[in-house]
Amino acid sequence: MSETAVDAFEDVNVDAVQDRLLTWYRENHRDFPWRETEAAYEILVSEVMSQQTQLGRVVDAWHDFLDRWPTVEALADADRADVVGFWTDHSLGYNNRAKYLHEAAGQLVTEYDGQFPEDPEELQELMGVGPYTANAVASFAFNNGDAVVDTNVKRVLYRAFGVPDDDAAFEAAASRLMPEGESRDWNNAIMELGGVACQKTPRCDEEGCPWREFCEAYRSGDFTAPDVPTQPEFEGSRRQFRGRVIGALREHGPLELDDLGPRVRVDYVPDGEYGREWLRELVTDLEVDGLAELDGEVARLKR
Ligand code: SF4
Repeated sequence: MSETAVDAFEDVNVDAVQDRLLTWYRENHRDFPWRETEAAYEILVSEVMSQQTQLGRVVDAWHDFLDRWPTVEALADADRADVVGFWTDHSLGYNNRAKYLHEAAGQLVTEYDGQFPEDPEELQELMGVGPYTANAVASFAFNNGDAVVDTNVKRVLYRAFGVPDDDAAFEAAASRLMPEGESRDWNNAIMELGGVACQKTPRCDEEGCPWREFCEAYRSGDFTAPDVPTQPEFEGSRRQFRGRVIGALREHGPLELDDLGPRVRVDYVPDGEYGREWLRELVTDLEVDGLAELDGEVARLKR
């Protein structure tokens, strides 16, 4: 693993990071039908379709495709023109993907007796299946993949743990974080986090991001990322102050409100507009979200 990836997790409780994300995913994830199946063929179809099309739009196409060609053998037997026609009718992007998918089905039937290989390396032997798709199929069908690194995952790792904008560092950090033998749920979960909460304009509180207490961007208020070069707009800066509360409590432990205040705002004055009452409200909000607690005048991180 690269040094930079080691540094990124030096002060991080990796077990807690893993637990929080998996729990959030299992409780909150969007229901896509391909997440309910472990059939490699059905997963491959969903992956190829979603390469260029929004996930919401893929759902109907995916159902229609599997109604028409329910097995890899059925697809291999199909007329290529019909498969390409289906692709065009459903606005699924480049027709080449349909051709490759049909070709891959043929390979699976003739070379693999209709059985998918379970290893990402071997899956790449299939026509049109690159490293990303191979790993997705290995993860979601066989729970046998490596950590996925796509733009969403990079954005999350960069913001949350300060992983530098470097492919090797992202790879190493993503691998370090993935719990052993959990590639199915983990890869789904971290991509879901990037797609739902850690979007270009992040929705940290709105989506109840499970990494808020660990996240450097949440603490600092700097939400730039490799694919977000300038600071995204927010309705207000409340999120930034919430992040600073978490950061200060993490760094210093429990603090009286009046000791915490100046660490959150330079213009903190106990009886001022942005004083004790304002801070109390902020910490109470964090309490509702299960991130902090207020005991009289003392704020602390939720244990
Ligand atoms: S707290 Fe916000 S910025 Fe940090 S990982 Fe979560 S969604 Fe992304």
